[in-house]
Amino acid sequence: MNNSQTIQIIGAGLCGSLLALRLGQRGFNVEVFEKRPDLRKVDLSAGRSINLAFSNRGIKAMNLVGLQHKVKPLCIPMYGRMLHDLEGNTTLSPYSGRENEYINSISRNDLNALLLEEAEALANVTIHFNHKCTAVDFENTSSTFYKYENKTEYSRKADVIIGTDGAGSVLRKSYYLGKKFLFSFSQDYLTHGYKELTILPKENGDYKTFKNALHIWGRDAFMLIALPNLDGSFTVTLFLNYDDGEYNFNNLTSENQVRAFFSTYFKDALELMPNLVEDFFKNPTSPLGTVKCSPWHYKGNTLLLGDAAHAIVPFYGQGMNASFEDITEFDALLDKEYNNWESLFKAFESSRKKDTDAIADLAIDNFHEMKGHVNQAIFREKRNLEMA
Ligand code: FAD
Repeated sequence: MNNSQTIQIIGAGLCGSLLALRLGQRGFNVEVFEKRPDLRKVDLSAGRSINLAFSNRGIKAMNLVGLQHKVKPLCIPMYGRMLHDLEGNTTLSPYSGRENEYINSISRNDLNALLLEEAEALANVTIHFNHKCTAVDFENTSSTFYKYENKTEYSRKADVIIGTDGAGSVLRKSYYLGKKFLFSFSQDYLTHGYKELTILPKENGDYKTFKNALHIWGRDAFMLIALPNLDGSFTVTLFLNYDDGEYNFNNLTSENQVRAFFSTYFKDALELMPNLVEDFFKNPTSPLGTVKCSPWHYKGNTLLLGDAAHAIVPFYGQGMNASFEDITEFDALLDKEYNNWESLFKAFESSRKKDTDAIADLAIDNFHEMKGHVNQAIFREKRNLEMA
């Protein structure tokens, strides 16, 4: 494709910043618009998943943009799942039988900051922060932005617009509301939501529990997990029903209830979290959903990528990884002989959508596996030990 064209990217999250970097490396003129402030200057972590499982799909994309060496120091290898039972006994269940296989824990902020840094270092990439896209005119390849600084709105045309604006995508909404073509869209929420909590490091900076594992407290109806951070802390996530069951987000309204819940089901975790109650009431509870839609593109004018096209629940740890894989696959198509963007977009969606639909369904299945079967795995393991 002709790289003298201007590509407009809406959203400078993980997917948008990687896309900007790669298209910039290819010589396109890239203009990125991000509604939030620059996360390298302002702490934006509240309410978003702080760390993520980063797997081979993600690493392959880092290799593509030549960042493998800069990403490695940000990663903490997790060699398996550390399963915690009700009494606080633990069993390490390796991810595979092969030695030295692991996935990584990585900070969303550090990874996003690195991608922004590298993209912005290219002369042909411009990133506008505090510019919120309010509408996309996909027929005229033009977007409208609200600039927070002076509270003004303006429109911007491009040769191609790519929406990497996440699960609540404005570009996707414009397809739906525009009613100019047949657009299928589904959004399914789980009855469980999530809340992030923290295990702080020891006073000397050490980790309070085993560093190199993804910790899981599976309790059938709900679940707690923890991933390590580079500073010695763990980000802990509670997955719990909003309003069903003996304990749910709606009925955990007092300090005593929260303590009772944790001391019954997550006794050993509670001991590691003296700050639990404060975190519990300070941090938001957020929903978990799956978005599927089609087509992802309008002619050769606009395209959805990442969560904007296929948001999934986090139980396979693959949402970001799949979004990064979008870029790897999109980039491979840019090397092929397509006459126009429309045929490239069509080819991309027809090869990619079946995979993103599959991981969306697997992620929901793995929710039940993690909260239920993982729990049983401890007892199976114990029984096997007793019989040996
Ligand atoms: P986002 O990260 O949502 O980025 C979208 C960007 O667009 C944001 O910067 C946003 O501010 C901007 N934006 C939005 N609207 C506008 C607008 N109107 N105008 C301009 N800018 C806009 N994935 C993994 O691979 N591993 C994990 O372990 C993992 N854990 C997760 C845990 C939780 C609790 C959750 C909720 C998700 C998890 N994910 C995980 C999924 C992962 O977070 C997403 O798949 C990933 O963030 C998608 O990247 P994205 O860039 O497409 O979207």
